[in-house]
Amino acid sequence: MTMTNDLDERYRSVFPSWLSPLYAEPISIERGEGSYVWDLEGERYLDFFGGVLTTMIGHNQPDVTAAVQAQAAKVMHTSTLYLNQPMIELAEEIAEVSGIPDARVFFTASGSEANDTALLLATSYRKSNQVLAMRNSYHGRSFTTQAITSHSSWSSTSTSGLDVHFVQGGYRLRSPFRDLDDDAFTQACCDDLEQILDMTSAGSVAALIAEPIQGVGGFAIPPDGFFGQFQKILQNRDILFISDEVQTGWGRTGEHFWGYQAHGVTPDILTFAKGVGNGAGLAGVVARADVMDTIKVASFSTFGGNPLAAAAGLATLRHVRANDLQTNAKRMGERLRNGLHAGIGDVPWIGEVRGRGLMLAIETVHDDSLHPDPSKALAIAEGCKARGLLVGKGGLYGNVVRMAPMLNSTESEIDEGVAALVATIEAIA
Ligand code: PMP
Repeated sequence: MTMTNDLDERYRSVFPSWLSPLYAEPISIERGEGSYVWDLEGERYLDFFGGVLTTMIGHNQPDVTAAVQAQAAKVMHTSTLYLNQPMIELAEEIAEVSGIPDARVFFTASGSEANDTALLLATSYRKSNQVLAMRNSYHGRSFTTQAITSHSSWSSTSTSGLDVHFVQGGYRLRSPFRDLDDDAFTQACCDDLEQILDMTSAGSVAALIAEPIQGVGGFAIPPDGFFGQFQKILQNRDILFISDEVQTGWGRTGEHFWGYQAHGVTPDILTFAKGVGNGAGLAGVVARADVMDTIKVASFSTFGGNPLAAAAGLATLRHVRANDLQTNAKRMGERLRNGLHAGIGDVPWIGEVRGRGLMLAIETVHDDSLHPDPSKALAIAEGCKARGLLVGKGGLYGNVVRMAPMLNSTESEIDEGVAALVATIEAIA
């Protein structure tokens, strides 16, 4: 029995059945360096998923490791009862890059809590429990964020007390809007939004929450400007726009720092998590002061903005900005996409290769239709693993292979990943 087999048995007897590792034979990661990780048996893997888009600038990144070590040696936790320098510096930098005027920042420990807070703010501000979310969305695993998650494999409840309506948008390949061009698609979704608003008690909806690119939903990318058209409708009715940047923030989409920037909108509230601390538990909310200050009672998050996570966040943010990593993400994303198009573009069961920056997806379908084929996505994930490459999976039908290499990936790492993907897909074909 290998050390990993032993851990697997112990894992299954102590964790819930719904917390299942990705592979039939799980990998147990022991250490990482840059874009690579090593398992307990010493096997090396190129990491194209970064622990679900979280290890943003590489494993054991020297700046982040040094910042965390130095902070741990000083003080790890203080709570928000006291001031701490890293938390304040990080909040200042996030407020500056957020693009939100008169921004206030609140730190939490997870993306779910950040979205919970955004909903708390919006519903309190507008004094309404009606919320709009997008079809095929994922916003977290807390009670309220499950209610705005439109995804039966990820959402276990919708009884949060929020009154939620789901709007068309995002995922397009298998929808009535499949054959529409970008403008017609955007118009059709705007019509859907207006109709939903007309059907609800008009004027009393608090907010719309959306991911600029749907992450768990399979990297579904709406046309540029899509949310700009939405926001016109929302502003007419005084409805807040919440941008869930948990996957799309920090330069991940290339070119822009936030996903919302492709849409010509300024959100009233934005939420961030995952990559912000390059793996340290750090998340939060940015909102205009008038929206943030709608909460009048004392409120805090024990772990939110703790000095250890804030030190990791500061080092990560400064590294991304100093090295213009969003531009690298755009270039490397194009290289990955071009490599895949050239290598597997004519495989009949590949429905689509799509992406923005370093958020790329391969959608697998049955040959003669666009019907989802999740077995092929799983076969790709397993085949890549056998070739030393880690990718993710997702999509409403589980038929999307997701890739999110580090923002500082090199050309040779991207080419190595493309070679493994192409060889895997050829072997399946
Ligand atoms: N929003 C989005 C877009 C996400 O992808 C996720 C996590 N996959 C969350 C929110 C929830 O974040 P967390 O798991 O940190 O609670």
